[in-house]
Amino acid sequence: MQTVHSIAEVQDIVGTRKSAGLRIGFVPTMGNLHGGHLTLVEKAKQSCDFVVVSIYVNPLQFGPNEDYDSYPRTMEQDQQLLMDHGVDLLYAASTHEIYPEGSENHTHVSVDILDGMHCGNTRPGFFRGIATVVAKLFNIVRPDIAVFGEKDFQQLTIIRKMVQDMVMPVEILGASIAREPTGLAMSSRNGYLTPQERGEIAPALYRCLTQARDAILAGETDFDLLRRNAFAHMAQAGFKPDYFNICNPQTLLPATHNEQSLVILAAGYLGKARLIDNIYFNRSS
Ligand code: AMP
Repeated sequence: MQTVHSIAEVQDIVGTRKSAGLRIGFVPTMGNLHGGHLTLVEKAKQSCDFVVVSIYVNPLQFGPNEDYDSYPRTMEQDQQLLMDHGVDLLYAASTHEIYPEGSENHTHVSVDILDGMHCGNTRPGFFRGIATVVAKLFNIVRPDIAVFGEKDFQQLTIIRKMVQDMVMPVEILGASIAREPTGLAMSSRNGYLTPQERGEIAPALYRCLTQARDAILAGETDFDLLRRNAFAHMAQAGFKPDYFNICNPQTLLPATHNEQSLVILAAGYLGKARLIDNIYFNRSS
């Protein structure tokens, strides 16, 4: 595995592989890699000949009071993991090339229709930051496919829409959520939790999601009641709930009780972390 830092090096290496007819897979990340990221790498390897992973903690997607400075940066460990998992190229991007005139002076990409809800409500500018950096990384790497985790369901929906609307020549694949044995979705931010928060409280988020799903599958149609119950359970477990929304998986708008496919999106604060999770399912008719 080669590690490079500049746009020119990525373009040169990937360009040569593309000319040789190889299919390029791409996995953008912010590093501090865990099993969730590796699921994405495996998925890329299944359908591609040459896999590129980027690591870049993107300042544009962090709010002024968020954890940009303290976000875990573990480059050497990440490099080893990627090498062990057969990645071909690691692009460790640098801010002087991604935002040469500062992130606020850069051209921005935003998918407004999917932005002002769920995480976009709590984190203004977050998805604009993500869409901007992902669009730029796509132009640098020029992958045939790119893999994103369903863990960040709103992000995946936004990327799909950006690619479709802007006719970007890349196929987007979603990878299912990797979980710890307790059910807790793997996340770099789980490292902010104490062992007790991580082992005993955090798994309640996924439990609330599965309970709501099971209630819907058993015929419950009062989504507002489910939402209130979930908030109460989250609070009881020790979370400060942020949102718990039962939605249409395409529009991310509140679902009506007769829709077949549903996604429940949830977020809550626990200790020093803000955790998100979701569950996607179909109702049989
Ligand atoms: P991040 O480094 O947190 O920006 O995540 C990079 C990519 O990994 C995104 O596409 C995430 O959705 C994905 N990802 C993060 N955690 C998980 C997980 N537990 N399961 C599946 N994908 C994940």
